[in-house]
Amino acid sequence: MSNTWHRGLGAKNLAALAVEKGGEQNRPLFECDDGREFTFREFWDMAGRFAAAFAKAGAVRGDRIAAQVDKSVEALAAFWACARGGFVFLPLNTAYTPAEVSYFLNDAAPHVFLVSPAKRAELEGVARAANCLHLLTLDDRGGGTLIEQSQKLDPFEHQGTGWDDLVAILYTSGTTGRSKGAMLSHGNLASNALALVETWEFTPDDCLIHALPVYHTHGLFTATNTLLLSGGRMLFRRKFDADDVMRLLPRATCLMGVPTFYTRLLQHPALTRAATAHIRLFVSGSAPLLAETHRAFSERTGQAILERYGMTETSMNASNPYSGDRRPGSVGLPLPHISVRVADPVTHVALPVETDGMIEVSGPNVFKGYWRNPEKTAEDFTQDGWFVTGDLGRISEDGYVTISGRAKDLVITGGFNVYPKEVEELIDALPGVAESAVIGLPHGDFGEAVTVVVVPEQGAVLDEAAILAAIRPKLAGFKLPKRVFVVDALPRNAMGKVQKAELRRSYASTYQ
Ligand code: AMP
Repeated sequence: MSNTWHRGLGAKNLAALAVEKGGEQNRPLFECDDGREFTFREFWDMAGRFAAAFAKAGAVRGDRIAAQVDKSVEALAAFWACARGGFVFLPLNTAYTPAEVSYFLNDAAPHVFLVSPAKRAELEGVARAANCLHLLTLDDRGGGTLIEQSQKLDPFEHQGTGWDDLVAILYTSGTTGRSKGAMLSHGNLASNALALVETWEFTPDDCLIHALPVYHTHGLFTATNTLLLSGGRMLFRRKFDADDVMRLLPRATCLMGVPTFYTRLLQHPALTRAATAHIRLFVSGSAPLLAETHRAFSERTGQAILERYGMTETSMNASNPYSGDRRPGSVGLPLPHISVRVADPVTHVALPVETDGMIEVSGPNVFKGYWRNPEKTAEDFTQDGWFVTGDLGRISEDGYVTISGRAKDLVITGGFNVYPKEVEELIDALPGVAESAVIGLPHGDFGEAVTVVVVPEQGAVLDEAAILAAIRPKLAGFKLPKRVFVVDALPRNAMGKVQKAELRRSYASTYQ
């Protein structure tokens, strides 16, 4: 695997590549839900002026610029200001409380902290206590001290920023323990954007509905960088709304979403073949897309959702093909220049096809390590340099990757391994079941007990004994759940991921 292929590109960093590949500078780039529009040139100059404002506040190459702001084109420009100015962007989820923000500021030691004006009062002290003395504000409609202070400045660009320099630190969502900052370089993001432009066949004619948050890799990098590096444009929405997206479909060519987008669209009566005819590509990722959702969407629209697999530390690793078989339940084939293997979780020796094990990745997309955490970095890389994703899965004879769950969600009961997804798929297929989540709970005899939390379909009534009776003939005894809990909805985060740690906490005392 060559990590030097990029040398042939001639571009020294992500910003240079965006200018080179981005096409016509006066092309429309963003059309926002509040009526504002930006050309590439306007966006680029704004990013340059923001970079100048950060430099004026004393930030130098490599300094971190933290931001906890609402979604806006300006929030994206703050990242591109870092790409142009040689700084390192640190986006923070808008849901983080001041106590959580305090942890990130102390850990990353940013020079500038960008906050929404509404949160300034409560975060000023937190920033000062973390020794971050430059607080700037930015709202979601083009207002704030960052705008005021940058208005009269000339755009700034750091000339010495290279392919291997850091451009962002993204903290992993960290459902167990403290979150860790994944250090991403210009080359990590640029190589991935190029791989996606190629694989998904993006051209300047493309128009993306951008309805994802921009504090997470999916909306901040995957969606935006692919469009920036292909010369296309974006219909930019501050949040996902099914009615709004339905209205935009005839004007767009692509939607990138989390699985929840698709389940919501499926609930919309206007979703038909004709309504989606202008779209050439529906992409799903960040959480598993149920095979059932894939099939239902296909039946209603005639379009096969393209599922792909990625993570904060690596950006995108694998994707179903643009032309070719998009398999429900699989995340497809490794992207160009990226290698994916399934290995023994302990020895890291590659396993034969169709065998479940740890998914490991290598390529120009793989991050530079965890910020100020060499121990954790060493733990998550193998001796031969592969990143251990923490996802379990297998690879088919013809190279398709299927994810069977997170290693930390694996249930070990009486010494036997139970892959939650295997049990979930059986339960999901039962009549009246909308979805399910299998978790392991502390148990005196077994160590962990397989337990399932199910959500009924609208109007359906589910019964614990009936569910167990239906799956008993199909499962080895040790895989059979000891209890079934019925709930209205599973807890999910903004990216649509089921929060199994939260479920484990809620039901912790079940067998105690
Ligand atoms: P994050 O770092 O927040 O993007 O989360 C990355 C994790 O999301 C991965 O390690 C996977 O566990 C999960 N994930 C991402 N895409 C998929 C997918 N298509 N199917 C199943 N899990 C996924």
